[in-house]
Amino acid sequence: MTILPVIPISPDKPDAVITRRRPSMPPRHLADLDLDARKAAVAALGEPAFRAKQLSTHYFGRFVRDASAMTDLPAASRDRITADLLPTLLTPIREQDCDDGATRKTLWKLHDGALVESVLMGYSNRVTACVSSQAGCGMACPFCATGQQGLTRNLSVAEIVDQCVYLAGVAASGVVTGSPPRLSRVVFMGMGEPLANYPRVIEAVRRLTTPAPEGLGLSQRHITVSTVGLVPAMRRLIAEQLSVTLALSLHAPDDDLRDELVPVNQRWKVAEVLDAAFDYAAQTGRRVSIEYALIRDVNDQPWRADLLGRLLHGKLAHVNLIPLNPTPGSKWDASPKPVEREFVRRLLAAGVETTVRDTRGREIDGACGQLAAGELTQAGADGVAADAEVAQ
Ligand code: SAH
Repeated sequence: MTILPVIPISPDKPDAVITRRRPSMPPRHLADLDLDARKAAVAALGEPAFRAKQLSTHYFGRFVRDASAMTDLPAASRDRITADLLPTLLTPIREQDCDDGATRKTLWKLHDGALVESVLMGYSNRVTACVSSQAGCGMACPFCATGQQGLTRNLSVAEIVDQCVYLAGVAASGVVTGSPPRLSRVVFMGMGEPLANYPRVIEAVRRLTTPAPEGLGLSQRHITVSTVGLVPAMRRLIAEQLSVTLALSLHAPDDDLRDELVPVNQRWKVAEVLDAAFDYAAQTGRRVSIEYALIRDVNDQPWRADLLGRLLHGKLAHVNLIPLNPTPGSKWDASPKPVEREFVRRLLAAGVETTVRDTRGREIDGACGQLAAGELTQAGADGVAADAEVAQ
């Protein structure tokens, strides 16, 4: 693990760091707007109409997020453009890498002091960004570090998109070891429940998938939205006619256990949530990914593998098993490898495609379910996030 250089929290006032304020949505940003709205915004600033495309090309095409680095802008325009369209939304507090430079986690401070994280993962043929859609999470899954924090607030469209644009810039700089220098995938598997921040997440998906310079130009099929199973929102997603990949965090094939592991199951049961997932698959023609964190002696019994196999047999679905990443203070642990292998064997025997997810980012607490920036603040860990609490 390497701790990369810490970027000063407040470069202009090095001693003054930000006090935690009440959660509030950030100011408007270019990435909140589509191209037409950007044109209207630059016109309102008294700037020529071509400025909208020029700014968009810098931001989405070259990943330049700071107007002061847009050297073809007249100096007189930069300040007003910064204030009105390019306010700083995300300040990196800490970056860490591991897996020989192939995984990189960024801890961000938002304008109101809330903390969120993003993770960039490089593979031989692709680079994937795992981004947050909320600060904290209200879904309270007991094995998930973010779930223990509660919800602070929804992220804005631009706060979501800006994580991706930043990470696209990191990927383009070539620092992700052994990977192509291009961000190609985004997964909404960081902090938060994306479908609980529905309109903003959908708008962010549109921004990420619209060709440059209006957006980042990623393929819809390369975006994955992961959900605990908010059925009405899943049904709404079906109606959007997008072709993003849907991941459903199932974690148990029976209501008794799922009621505990994914508390929202008390509202929408396994049968109902799977129905919605299968309908999504039918509508899009895209396989849904059934996420299942294997927890020792909790959900890893052979009979549960068989039940899951029966539920998914013949459906357009595959199972992605995630070895549990134990969170601090948790009583739960990952299943032993032989148990995991038997679970996989039974699913395959039922004709269900199954993969086991690699455990990227474990060393830097950047693996699935370990993102818990807020806890850092409470513990004052490393004196880094503690800075975010120091009064001016
Ligand atoms: N709220 C969304 C996105 C969250 S994180 C959702 O629940 O789908 C993405 C995945 O990581 C989810 O499947 C989540 O259940 C899983 N996860 C959470 N905590 C984990 C942990 N400690 N170990 C392994 N996977 C975990």
